[in-house]
Amino acid sequence: MPAPSRPREDVLSKLTPVVTKRWLSPGAWKLDVYEQLDGYKALRKALRHEPSELVAFMKESGHRGRGGAGFPVGMKWQFVPDDGNEHYLVVNADEGEPGTCKDLPLMMNDPHSVIEGVAIASYAIKADRAFVYVRGEAVHAARRLRQAVREAEEVGYLGKDILGSGFNLEVVIHSGAGAYICGEETALLDSLEGLRGQPRLRPPFPATHGLYQKPSCINNVGTIAAVPHIVLGGAEWWKSLGSENAAGTMIYSVSGRVKHPGQYECALGTTLSELIELAGGMEDGHELRYFTPGGSSTPLLTDEHKDVPLDFDNVSKAGSILGTTAIMVFSDQDCPVLACWRWMKFYQHESCGKCTPCREGNYWMVRVYERILSGNGAEKDLKLLEDACGNLLGRAFCGLGDGAASSVTSSLKFFRQDYLDYIEGNKRPLFDAEKIGAH
Ligand code: SF4
Repeated sequence: MPAPSRPREDVLSKLTPVVTKRWLSPGAWKLDVYEQLDGYKALRKALRHEPSELVAFMKESGHRGRGGAGFPVGMKWQFVPDDGNEHYLVVNADEGEPGTCKDLPLMMNDPHSVIEGVAIASYAIKADRAFVYVRGEAVHAARRLRQAVREAEEVGYLGKDILGSGFNLEVVIHSGAGAYICGEETALLDSLEGLRGQPRLRPPFPATHGLYQKPSCINNVGTIAAVPHIVLGGAEWWKSLGSENAAGTMIYSVSGRVKHPGQYECALGTTLSELIELAGGMEDGHELRYFTPGGSSTPLLTDEHKDVPLDFDNVSKAGSILGTTAIMVFSDQDCPVLACWRWMKFYQHESCGKCTPCREGNYWMVRVYERILSGNGAEKDLKLLEDACGNLLGRAFCGLGDGAASSVTSSLKFFRQDYLDYIEGNKRPLFDAEKIGAH
């Protein structure tokens, strides 16, 4: 018997709008409206403190990166050498992970929160130049950010001697050219310098040799947009919102087989069950079977994990990664083999080609998937997929290789029989082998 549904008010009480709180305010992307909604108060407050105090404050708040790795923000700020030489803040707004769609609405609806966060972070690390690298296709978001920069410059929130503090900051909004790999921070730096966007060999790390070989702090755009809220609300308040080792809120991008896909900002540690409830429940006639906790680069989890708190540590204990909290929900009617094939096509296309395991591995894995899905596969193909993933995981030049292997290895672990069903002829082939040249 299905569990009785809870009153909608109970369900909605899980929402904790902080970064998203201005999204529904008409015109919040304009400076005057933003100022009416507490805009730039955090910058005024921050400028009354020493930069080192802000770094200590951010460490105290427990704020962690929202771009996937979850690295402590205060620690990252501290890594930038305070030696009086030139260094930069670089903001990664190259959102491209399949299933992730939280940064675009953030930049469209609340661009000044990004600019205010950039100003505070730059002041904290003593950078007088900051770059925001926006995904190439996000033309409207880049326009909004450029407009916000112009408005902020006109009234003295950016530029020379900001609010009479003596602090100078120039902000450049840079549009990429639409390559997924440029979300990788060192590829982003190369692209920003006008080079082909490919990951760099590390060490040296960007903290010492970043943009133009100068020390650079690279933060995700969601990480930065949360900064003004944390400065205004305080470290204890931010910590009180989340779970252990995971302070604050997160925008969960819920898509797939739910009634109301969308962005749901909740405390870190919210479970999939709660998010599905917020999203109006599963689509009629569909039962949850598996999901990605953080986009297609994170290992799949199943319906057994629906009550795992979705924060950094608990998702890791469950065998996956929180990633970008792009929750793609799949049902009993969604073939995991087909889903993996689509993701592999994406990674094959987006591989920058710099290293062999990724360039060749993804290409050949797509071919193996097509052989299986057209009914021409053999059991040894599963071993072939595992071998290819073994050559990618931890062996590719950058994280794209690991990400590409994640869905394959996890689907083989949880859904091996789905693969065997195509191989043993229990399932109708999805592709015509002749048409797609699968052998
Ligand atoms: Fe390029 Fe892929 Fe190698 Fe990363 S893993 S450097 S994307 S080929």
